[in-house]
Parts: sequence; structure tokens; C-alpha cells
Amino acid sequence: MPDKSMSEERGGAETPDLLYLLQGADEFSRLVFPDSEALFKSLARRQAPHTLFITCADSRVSPEMITQTRPGELFVCRNIGNIVPAYGEMLGGVSAVVEYAVLALNVRQIVICGHSDCGAMKGLASGATIADEMPTVHAWLRNAEAARSVVMARKLEEERIVQAMVEENIRLQLTHLRTHPAVAGRLALGKLQVQGWVYDIGRGKVSVFDEADSKFESLEEARLRMLRKDAR
Ligand SMILES: [Zn+2]
Repeated sequence: MPDKSMSEERGGAETPDLLYLLQGADEFSRLVFPDSEALFKSLARRQAPHTLFITCADSRVSPEMITQTRPGELFVCRNIGNIVPAYGEMLGGVSAVVEYAVLALNVRQIVICGHSDCGAMKGLASGATIADEMPTVHAWLRNAEAARSVVMARKLEEERIVQAMVEENIRLQLTHLRTHPAVAGRLALGKLQVQGWVYDIGRGKVSVFDEADSKFESLEEARLRMLRKDAR
């Protein structure tokens, strides 16, 4: 899906400000909307997204761009570190989004997507004490603490730690996701699939977590595995 809103005429803004954003909204109305008017009209009164996409708030991760989906397809939940608190521990926005997506919107897939160079995972990995400066972030990241313990126990080389944290956090958040009653119920009925991804920003590639083998695999490997499973 080409992103016409980033047209060249906007490139001149040195420090993008609110006017820059308004200009973008104006360009969207004038240049992008008319091309997809039928789609937007069909979406005006209802949505039927097929997938709940949970990812990091990081500005470099663009769910619709990396999945090549259009408005109306993804129900998106973003937060620092693509975290899903285990059910019952922190019943807040994420839990409500999960419940609503599964029970009201009947999504058929949930993807938890982490990414390379994640600031949240870097912070956790470094063990930096942010409790005083950012107590809310600190409290939130406790939901990924088990991933840190697992990675630290492995005694990895320094440069591999952040990526290992990113991957381990996906495993952990998938486990947390399954503690949500709505998710557990639909999984038991075979009406929902969940999958963990890691998006590599610099390479433009997605890798997929294979839960049976407990490892990340390339997109091609994941596709073959899923096609084989479907054929059975
Ligand atoms: Zn991140």
C-alpha cells in the first residue's frame, strides 16, 4: 500500500510540528481518501478486523505497512515492549483490548510482534534503574521481568543480549496471552490462532516463533510449516 501522505511536498519541514501533521491530514483527505473512497464508506459504520495485532509503541514499527493490510483489517494494540500482562495481575487497557477483540470482534488471529533494537528490552537488559525517573515505565516492564531472568541465565555475549531479550519477551507474552479466559476459550474451540513475530527494522524482515520447536524461523520456513500443517 503506497503511502501518499508522505509526499515530497511535505519533505521540507525541518522540525515536524502540529502544522506538519495537519498538512498530512489535509493531503490524506484530498489525495489518498478519494482513491479508496469505497473502502472507507464500507467501513464507516462497522469494522470486522480479522486480526488483533499487538506490538510495541516504537515509531519505527508500522503494523499496516509490514503486513500490507488496509484499514479495517487489523485491530491494533500498542504499548511499550509489546507486553500482555497475565490475566488478573494488571487488568487494564491491554486486557480490555484482548477481551474485546476476541469476544466482540471475533478476531481469528492474534499476533504479538516485537522488533529489533527495542528500547524497552534494551532498558531491561541493561538493568538500568529507571524506577526513580520513570516509575510507571518501570512498573510496566515488570511484566517482562521473567524474560530478563531467562536471558541473563544464558550468559550470552553482550551484543546478543538485546535480540535474545526481544525473542524471549515474545515467548513470555504469548504465555501471558493464553492466561486470558477469552483467549483460552477460543483456543480450546480451535477458533483462534496466536503467533509471535519479531520484525527486523534494518532488514525489513519478519521472523516467526515456532512454538513446537521453541525457536524463531524465517518467514519462508514458517509458511512451509503452516502449509504442511494445513495439508494434514
Ligand atoms: Zn520496542
